[in-house]
Amino acid sequence: MKRILSFLLITPLLFMAGCTPFVVNDIEPPPDPGQKEPAGPTEPDNSSGESPPPEEPEPSSEPEPSQSQDETVEPSTEPEPEPEPEPDPPPSFGFIDAHADTISRAMLPNRNQGLYKNNIDVDFVRLQEYDAPVQVFVLWCSDRYVSTAFSRTNLMIDFFEREVEKHKDIIELALDLEDIERIARAGKISAILSIEGGEALMGKIENLDHFYNRGVRIFAPTWNRENELGYGQAQGSSRGLKPFGIECIKRMDELGIIMDVSHLNEAGFWDAHNNSTRPYMASHSNAYAVTPHARNLKDDQIKAIIDRGGIIGFNMYPLLLTQTDKASMDDVLAHFRHFIKIGAGNHLGLGCDFDGIPTMPAGIKGVESLKSFAVTLAGEFDEDTSFKIMESNFYEFFMRYFSQPQ
Ligand SMILES: [Zn+2]
Repeated sequence: MKRILSFLLITPLLFMAGCTPFVVNDIEPPPDPGQKEPAGPTEPDNSSGESPPPEEPEPSSEPEPSQSQDETVEPSTEPEPEPEPEPDPPPSFGFIDAHADTISRAMLPNRNQGLYKNNIDVDFVRLQEYDAPVQVFVLWCSDRYVSTAFSRTNLMIDFFEREVEKHKDIIELALDLEDIERIARAGKISAILSIEGGEALMGKIENLDHFYNRGVRIFAPTWNRENELGYGQAQGSSRGLKPFGIECIKRMDELGIIMDVSHLNEAGFWDAHNNSTRPYMASHSNAYAVTPHARNLKDDQIKAIIDRGGIIGFNMYPLLLTQTDKASMDDVLAHFRHFIKIGAGNHLGLGCDFDGIPTMPAGIKGVESLKSFAVTLAGEFDEDTSFKIMESNFYEFFMRYFSQPQ
């Protein structure tokens, strides 16, 4: 409630995304091969302050102590146990969003922008308008970089690290739940790194460890195209993961890298589900029952994600909402209604796909629009549902994920 109101009170920034065409990474598979999308405290025993009960008396000839004698028993010299400290309340986040392609878009030669302030969909200045948001920054290679995907992905991390280092007073890279909580309590932006497409590994399992050591905590085995790990959504739905893809998923479970199934086709989704043990995410996908696009999730997939304790990030891409390049806010809400109707209300968050999509629904201009979007969700459902979608479901997912044994 408080947060929703605060959204209303903050004057939104009006940075508009540039109008020139850009490379987006979520368009439908190749019509044109060159066009890619870019516990509460434990009560101590005997905490009432009463003296401990007297020990069971040895059988003796002495008379039973009377009640009044009980009350005069010498108090024990044992100190009262200290009550456990109250746990910290959960931190407050402006929002948690699981997917933004801002790094690869900012690095395009015709953009060549920084991450602090830019004219694309997300920058640090606009993120700072929120309490202490968590933004997943995606590392994605367009077709031109597939043959050098390992070095390109490293270059993207170098760029990201430089930008964060320059602005470390407002943003930090988060590596685990403790980081997310600490950074939020400091009032800063948490950035999480994610790889979208296993091309970055160039077929070597040790490169997964390399990227984990560089801070990557989310990994999508494929984007739309085929790679060493499996067949993407562009290759139909029957061929799923390859043996190397399954090897990578098992290593991700060991390392503590969250699996992202958003771009897998149906066979790949079930291969990934059946070969992983931990909660996972579909970082930016919508409901197939509402819009039958291959990038959306069928109801049995949604239920499998729920059963595993996973989470779904809602994608703002009109193609996944209406199969056209336009969508209204009601088209957006129709997906939320369906997710909630089939029981995903506690497993649903944001994966807006900002900077990866060429158009957006009416009323959404970029990350600055999430304030009014939270108000729209609260109006359509209620404030609790809005709060869950904007931040608390993802926070609870991170709690579930990071408490799983590795
Ligand atoms: Zn994508």
